[in-house]
Amino acid sequence: MNWVLEGGLLVDPARGRVSEGPLAVVSGRISFGGPEAAENIDVSGCLVMPGNVCAHHHLYSVLARGMPGPDDPPRSFPEILERIWWRLDRALQPETIRLSALLGAVEAARAGTTSLIDHHASPESIDGSLDHVAAGIVDAGLRGVACYEVTDRHGTSRGRQGIAENVRFVRGNRWELIRGMMGAHASFTIGPETMETLVGEARSRRMPLHIHLAEDRCDERDSLERYGMRTAHRLSDAGALAEGDLVAHGVHLDEWEQQVVRDSKAWLAHNPRSNMNNGVGYAPVLRMGSQVVLGTDGIDGDMFAETRACYLKAREASWQTGPAFAVERLTAGTKIVGAMFGEPDLGTLAHGAPADLMILEYETPTPLNAGNLAGHVLFGLTSANVRDVMVAGTWIVRNRRHQLVDEEELAARCREAAPVLWKRMEAF
Ligand SMILES: [Zn+2]
Repeated sequence: MNWVLEGGLLVDPARGRVSEGPLAVVSGRISFGGPEAAENIDVSGCLVMPGNVCAHHHLYSVLARGMPGPDDPPRSFPEILERIWWRLDRALQPETIRLSALLGAVEAARAGTTSLIDHHASPESIDGSLDHVAAGIVDAGLRGVACYEVTDRHGTSRGRQGIAENVRFVRGNRWELIRGMMGAHASFTIGPETMETLVGEARSRRMPLHIHLAEDRCDERDSLERYGMRTAHRLSDAGALAEGDLVAHGVHLDEWEQQVVRDSKAWLAHNPRSNMNNGVGYAPVLRMGSQVVLGTDGIDGDMFAETRACYLKAREASWQTGPAFAVERLTAGTKIVGAMFGEPDLGTLAHGAPADLMILEYETPTPLNAGNLAGHVLFGLTSANVRDVMVAGTWIVRNRRHQLVDEEELAARCREAAPVLWKRMEAF
C-alpha cells in the first residue's frame, strides 16, 4: 500500500530540516516523487517526523508497574537489584516474557517510538527467551534489537547459557524487523572466564556488545578489588569496548575512563530518569559528546520524556548547554539501529529512507523552523501529541489506536498476569 501525507509540516531533527509536504510512502520507503496509486491522508495541523529510538530498554520489567516494594526497603543500588530486579527476572516465564515485551512495545509505539534496543534477563528461562522478546516486539509492529544479559550471578554455567542464547538468536533470526546483539549484564557480575568467552563469540560473529558500565560505584569498586583496574579499563583490556558496541550509563567513569570510552567509539546510552530514580548520580555526558544516545532503562518507552529529562539535567549541570544537545542525543540513537539494519538514512525523512515515522497533532503556536526546532521538541512536543505511527510502511497506530493489538484486551491480560508474577517472586 502507498500513501501520500498532505498538508503537514515535515520535521527532520536529525538533518535539522523543516519543510512543507507532501511526503509519500512507496513500498515501505519515504518518497518525494508521488506514486501513481496511493491513498491520500490529510495531516494538516500536524507534524510528520521520523519515529524515535529507545537505545536501552528492559522490556522484561514492564509488568512491575505498581508492584509492592520489598518488606525490607533497599538502601543502596546493589540492594535495589537484589531485592527487586533480580527477583523479578527470575520469576519470568515464556508467557510473561512475551506479554511484558508486547505491552512495553505497544506503549512505546503509542509514544512515537518506532525502534527499541532491548536488554533482556530471565535467569530461570534463558533458552529461547529472546524469541519471546522478539515476538512481543514484532506483534506490536516495532523495529527492535534484542540481546540476553549474560551474567555469572547464578553460576558460570548460566553465564555460558546466556552467551549461547545470544548466538542462537542471531544465527536463527528470520525476522525482517529484528536484529540481535551480544548482551552482558555488567562487569561486576561477569567473571574472567565468561568475559573471555562472550567477547570471543561476539567478535568472531561480528555481534556488537551491549553492556551496563559504571552505573553505580559498586561496578567500579568490584573491578578495582578483583582486577586492579577501573571498569572501562577492564572492558577495554578484555576487548569488550569497540566501535559499534553499546554501553549503558557510564555514571561513574573517571576522566581516564571517559577517554577510553571516547577512543573506543562505542555508543554510550544515557538514561537520566532511571539514574535519578536509582539515585546513582549524573553521567558525564557533556564530556562524551556525539557518542551519547538516549535510553529509558525500562522506565517506559517515551523518548520525548527522556529527552526532556536529558535536557533539564544538562542545564542543571551547565546552563551553557543549549536545547540542540538533548535533541541530537535523541536522534543519534537512530544511527545504531540504522547500522544494525544496513539503513544509514533510518531516522530521517530522506528520500528512500525506511518509512518509520510519526504524525503529531501540533498546530504550532509560535513560528517553527530549522533554527528553533529543538526548542519545540523540548518544550512543545510530548507523547500525547502522537496521533499516528508507521514502521517500515505499515501503520501501527492510527488515530491513537494501535492497529495490530487490542489494547483493552492486552491491559486485561496484563492485570491478570502481573499479580501472579509478583507472587512468584516470593520464591526467589
Ligand atoms: Zn539497563
